[in-house]
Order: sequence, then C-alpha cells, then structure tokens
Amino acid sequence: MLLTISTTHQPATDLGYLLHKNPARLQSFTLNFGQAHVFYPEASAERCTAALLLDINTVDLVRSKDSSISMDQYVNDRPYVASSFMSVALADVFGTALNGRCKQRPELVTTAIPLEAKIAAIPSRGGEEWLRKLFEPLGYQVEIIQHSLDEEHPEWGASPYFTLTLKANCRLSELLTHLYVLIPVLDNAKHYWIGNDEVEKLLKRGSGWLQGHPERRNIAYNYLRHKHNLTRDALERLVAEEVLAEEESAATIEADGVDVTASGSTVEVEPITAEAAQAAEKRTSLHEQRLLAALDILKQSGARRVLDLGCGEGRLLKKLLQEKSFEHILGLDVSYKALELAQKRLHMERMAPRQRERITLLHGALTYRDKRLEGYDAAAVIEVIEHLDPARLSAFERVLFEFAHPDTVVITTPNAEYNVKYETLEAGKFRHQDHRFEWTRTQFQDWARPLAERSGYQVDFSPIGTEDAEVGAPSQMAVFARSSATIESEV
Ligand code: SAH
Repeated sequence: MLLTISTTHQPATDLGYLLHKNPARLQSFTLNFGQAHVFYPEASAERCTAALLLDINTVDLVRSKDSSISMDQYVNDRPYVASSFMSVALADVFGTALNGRCKQRPELVTTAIPLEAKIAAIPSRGGEEWLRKLFEPLGYQVEIIQHSLDEEHPEWGASPYFTLTLKANCRLSELLTHLYVLIPVLDNAKHYWIGNDEVEKLLKRGSGWLQGHPERRNIAYNYLRHKHNLTRDALERLVAEEVLAEEESAATIEADGVDVTASGSTVEVEPITAEAAQAAEKRTSLHEQRLLAALDILKQSGARRVLDLGCGEGRLLKKLLQEKSFEHILGLDVSYKALELAQKRLHMERMAPRQRERITLLHGALTYRDKRLEGYDAAAVIEVIEHLDPARLSAFERVLFEFAHPDTVVITTPNAEYNVKYETLEAGKFRHQDHRFEWTRTQFQDWARPLAERSGYQVDFSPIGTEDAEVGAPSQMAVFARSSATIESEV
C-alpha cells in the first residue's frame, strides 16, 4: 500500500523538514499491524517526493490477540489498498506534520505550496464520481485511473479500485488531514472499534473544512461506519449552524408559496413558474418535504387536537405549534434524549403559559396502549414505523387504529426501491442502522390497505420528494381517513 507526496516548492527538499523525515535515509517503523517505511524516490531542489509504504501482515492480523483489531480472513485486500490502516500510519509516522508543526521551517507550515498526493490503490464503491465529490469541493485537481478486475480478462469488467492523484496549492497539514479523514470514508472495512472517541477524532480533524463540505453527511456516516447514532451526534455538533440555516431556508419557502394574511390565516398562492417551484423544492431537504406534506394533511383535515407519534427532536411539533388551528398537540417518543432535544427546540422553559398549555410531551412506546393518546382528531407518524420490530407492528396497529382511533392518520416511511439511487449505500443495506425494515411501494400498500379495511378507514398514497420514473420517490406517505359512515354510526 503506497502513498506518495510530492512538491515542486523550492527548495523542494524542504519537504523533508515538513515531514520530519530526512530525504537521504530510509526509515522504518513498527506499527501494531505491520511495518511502515518512509523513503524518497526523488529529492532534488526542483522536485521532491516522499513515499509512505505500508507492509501489512494479514497472518499476524488474523492471529492478533489485540481485540481492537478484527480481521477474520487471511486473503483480503488490506495489504494492497489504502484503508484505515493508512490513516493510523499517517498519524503515527507523520503526526507532527499532520498537526501542522515544524521547528526548522515554521513559515512553511502556514504557507500554501504546490503539493501532489498519489494513492496507488484506493477502493471507491461509488466509483469515480464519489471520489470527485469527496475531493473536488476541497479544491483538489483530481486525476483518477480505474483498474480492471483482471487485466487478462477484460470481460470481467472494472474493479472498485482506483489510482488517485490529488493536486493543490495548500498547506501540507491540510492535505494530510484530508487524507486522514477521507481515506477511511472510502474504505468500508474500518479495522477498529468505532465509538464516541471516533466522533471526537472526526470533529477535531474535520474542524474548519468538514462543516462546509457538501458531502459532510455522507462523510460522517461512512467515517463512523454507518453508526447512525454517532453520525447524528457528530452532525448535530458539526452542523448546528447548518440546521439553523436549513430552518431559515424552509421559512423562506413557506413565505414563497404561502401568503400570510393580516388576520394570521394562510392563503395558498401558486408558485410563479415551474422552475421557481423546482428551485424551491431543491432548497427544501427531503425531511422538510415530509414534514410539510404531513402538516398540510393535518391542516386540511380540520383537526384541532393532534398527535405526533415518534416525534423525535420535535421538528414537526415546532411547525404544529405555529398553526393556531391546532388547539392541543401531543408528542410521544421512546427516546428520552430526543424529548429533551425537542424541549430545547421548542424553548419550552420560556414559553408563555397559554402556549405551554397547548403542548404535552410524553415519554412512552407506541407499542403499548396508552389512554392519554385517546380523544385526538389526527395523528402523524413520520419516519417511525421502520424503526419498529416487525413482530411489534401489530401491537402498534392496535394502539393507533383501535385504541387511539383518530379520524386522520398520516404515516411516512422510506421507499426502499429508491435506495439504488444512493451511491454510498451498499445494495441490500438500509438507510439507517436503526431501521428494522424498509418497504417498497407495493409492500407499504400491502400493509396499509388491509389495515385500513379492517379498522374502518380509507387510505391514499402519495410520493414524497422528486419522483424517478422507475423507482419512484425517496419517501412515501399513506393518509388514512376514517370513513364518514363509521364516524356517523359512532356519534
Ligand atoms: N418523527 C420524527 C422522528 C423520526 S426518527 C421526525 O420526523 O423528525 C424515529 C423516531 O421514532 C425516533 O425519535 C425514535 O426514538 C422513535 N421511536 C422508535 N421506536 C419507537 C417506539 N416504539 N415508540 C415511540 N417512539 C419510537
């Protein structure tokens, strides 16, 4: 596994000072997964190249007693491709340079110099495009060569391995930091345990560039090896400002499409052109679109008392509170942490008493009957059912449709067919680690129709997000309305 770093900054051999490795010597280091060697294939005043070669011993890895390393195959790609081992080596061997320190050439540390990094082999399941999406926003000129599976059998097609060259005028510590974070992002087989300290590492190394990166969500999700909770934590801390910006842009969209009259009631206005509508949709995140769709249904239903089941951090609750027509709102979630965040988002501690009376937050599970959920006109269950154990779905159905029994129910869930559109999602995997299932459009309808039938509701389905001709939209919504005949017969 080979990484080279070159510069044409003159004198080019100053690279040796920056990396704290003498160009005239071969140096070797023992790491707990093998050997790292540093040497300079070229070292002239015009151009200097440092090479970091990792020699990984897979047999030792498999036999290792070190529980932080797990490897169960002797034959794998580890010795040949850039992986999380490379990041460990970068931190161990070039740690001082990574941290941007250099006693002998302090001015060079803070200077952007022409740099070129070449990784001999790196995996990218999302292909060339994913490599570009990761590095180009950081200002690199990216050169990519894709390798075939077997040169003697071109009919076998391309492999997911690439030779990657990055060129930029930047500080050496920046280049090393980007490699340190992004190499493991490309490598789905991180070799060590991913815990909270990885979030700290990501935030430390991502400081100053990750929050502005358009792929920050996918970067965090892959860096933390699809640990949904950790990703959420990291993003919450990293992009606190971004969420605010998202909410602000959502507010602009509401202002774009809806006119607020002096009396405070809202009147729908047509978007001016189709392009303007499309541009507005692009600015609204998928989740925002779900929430707005649900809000719309709840408003149209004429409900005065509404439930938000699995309310999470209170994004929908916030919108519901802004609508005067909703007299009482109840949010329920099984996660205490989520409810605490909801409380903060809604600023409940400083709410005026009349407003405070409009909302109740309940800590509870959707799979147990709760009398406090009865007597409501409508319920929203947004991106929640896929978190329920399939064996507990029937309990949820009874809790909501038999006992709570509101007139209107809005349920949204991912459309699994759309998953092929997510480049970073491996085939057959769910969008989030917490998901117990993800349904196709047919599966969702096959669940919802009989449920509506036996509970006395009519059900309609709609897509959420931009629809693809083949796989549909990213998310799907079912709206259940109690048949008027049933309501009358009960009155
Ligand atoms: N509806 C929110 C949150 C969706 S995330 C939104 O759209 O923003 C899914 C939420 O469902 C999480 O907050 C999770 O804690 C909650 N949840 C999962 N299983 C649950 C259960 N059995 N009972 C209640 N809430 C549950």
